[in-house]
Amino acid sequence: MLPESVANQIAAGEVVQRPASAVKELLENTIDAGATEVKLVIKDAGKTLIQVIDNGCGMSERDARMCFERHATSKIQTANDLLSIRTLGFRGEALASIASVSQVELKTKKFEDEIGTRLIIEGSEVKSHKPVSSPNGTSIQVKNLFFNVPARRNFLKSNTSELKYILDEFFRVALVHPDVAFTMYNQEKVMFQLPSANLRQRIVALFGPNFNQRLIPVEQHTSMVNISGFVGKPEFAKKTRGEQYFFANGRFIRNPYLNHAVEAAFQELIAKDSFASYFLYLELDPGNIDINIHPTKTEINFTDSKSIYVILQAAVRQALGKYNLTTVLDFEQEQSMEIPPLKPGEAVRQPEIRVDPDYNPFERKKEFQPSIRFENPGNNSALTGKGWNTAIPARQTGTIPTSPLTGHIDKLMEGKELGLDFTHSDIASPLFQIANSYILTETPKGLLVIDQQSAHERILFEEMLEAGAGVPGLRSKIMPETLSFSPDDAILLKDLLNEFQALGFELSEFGNNDFILQSIPLDLGHTDFMGAVEQALEAIKNELPGKDAGKPQVIARSMARSAAIKRGKSLRKEEMEAIYEKLFTCKIPELSPFGKPSFFILSFDELSKKFKT
Ligand code: ADP
Ligand code: MG
Repeated sequence: MLPESVANQIAAGEVVQRPASAVKELLENTIDAGATEVKLVIKDAGKTLIQVIDNGCGMSERDARMCFERHATSKIQTANDLLSIRTLGFRGEALASIASVSQVELKTKKFEDEIGTRLIIEGSEVKSHKPVSSPNGTSIQVKNLFFNVPARRNFLKSNTSELKYILDEFFRVALVHPDVAFTMYNQEKVMFQLPSANLRQRIVALFGPNFNQRLIPVEQHTSMVNISGFVGKPEFAKKTRGEQYFFANGRFIRNPYLNHAVEAAFQELIAKDSFASYFLYLELDPGNIDINIHPTKTEINFTDSKSIYVILQAAVRQALGKYNLTTVLDFEQEQSMEIPPLKPGEAVRQPEIRVDPDYNPFERKKEFQPSIRFENPGNNSALTGKGWNTAIPARQTGTIPTSPLTGHIDKLMEGKELGLDFTHSDIASPLFQIANSYILTETPKGLLVIDQQSAHERILFEEMLEAGAGVPGLRSKIMPETLSFSPDDAILLKDLLNEFQALGFELSEFGNNDFILQSIPLDLGHTDFMGAVEQALEAIKNELPGKDAGKPQVIARSMARSAAIKRGKSLRKEEMEAIYEKLFTCKIPELSPFGKPSFFILSFDELSKKFKT
């Protein structure tokens, strides 16, 4: 029989390859112990010291001794538990392995105990085991890792490399447990101080404040898997495989297949040699995971990876679409995306999400070509309905508004992109309203159907943001109106006056929770401003701290909804024409600011199919 210490060393070779592996095991134990505050102290890249201090459940005197025995885990009762186990460590060999190749000092105390325990072990040998006064929780110091296995010690890389491995592990744990506060000290200096936070805040705390504006939330619930987290906006994709994180049931995993699903979702949105960042969390029934096929447990497999692939890809696509980066998504279908588990041999069905294959997000910002003139400005005399802005401002700097429709021209040049070829004439085909909600007209590609409400929300939303960008002619003076708020809304509003100002609302304090409104963005003529501002404040309050689209955006979105023409309202001809015109000068005409489609085209092909027998 092998002496226990040798068995431990052999096991250690599997569990503890380098300081980072010890860090991973120690950090995971703090999470299993229910800690809310964890400190990680590193010296010489963990070669001289790794210390982990937590405020978790602590250990009794007996447990303190037992935890260094192999398979002394408190976490498995029967072999069946292996399948359903959700805690991080479940093999019960980490501490035994670590103690076999280092000098360990453990101090621990359970909350309910008077006194704690201090244990010193060197190369599996207990050197001291005493009661000690100690705070609740556990502190483990691992000194001189591999002091008794010189071959291993020599095999370690430079401090820079080893520290990098440690940080990788630290990040992975910190990203799964944003609610746990972590502090990391390197060479006695604080390297990371991560307060308890939500996931977005945690990502920002780890990767820097720039990340805040880069994140697009992903959220998809299905019976097979729940997916949540963030993907990076395509425009921030990097040339190096940077921040790419998958977690399954709270563990960092590597899975090239799933990575491919995400890459596929980003296809055409980022350059071929760039990589999107992602922080994606999968929650699924542990029965659907092949666990423990690799000792460090990062390479895991799913029993039904194909379905997970499809769901993941769709979830990312949908998130990108919601943020207006991809187009023509069928939102109705996506709401209830449910994929039943596949039977063996059954083919994977793609969820019904249609993406325009010709769409190219990089083609959107074409400069206006001054040489192209709008041929027939006389045609648009109808755009003078009351309360409607007849001036369509130029969008890019350097464009000169030569006619009310100038801003339209660059859009006309891009008409292809939307499957709309306006170049023949302007509004050649008449516009119809049906159901007091939809505007219909013929285009060269087919029947265009505009949802008047979503379209108008889009128009107002972009106009407000442009008013903020200083586009002239987008504000109008009104008869000053006094708005009175509840005291707490008034406090909130005072903080937001700059944001409102930036959107074209001249709103100022008037004392006593009253405010005075003197000018507004154009086109908001008939709005109930009191109600609209209250709605906007509500929207700000409801905005989750992690989900900030930017306050001006949140306000503009809400104001646009309040002020927009609603479905069910009968429109005059010139009102329809104004919507039609302005919608297609918008930057993102195809979606309302809430991500609802604002128009679609029923192609002649689709039409003719309807009549085939
Ligand atoms: P495992 O985590 O797989 O059970 P470990 O060797 O990592 O095995 O830990 C052995 C046991 O020691 C755990 O099951 C747990 O009971 C106890 N333990 C380890 N670390 C801590 C800690 N920070 N706080 C409380 N208990 C701990
Ligand atoms: Mg463990």
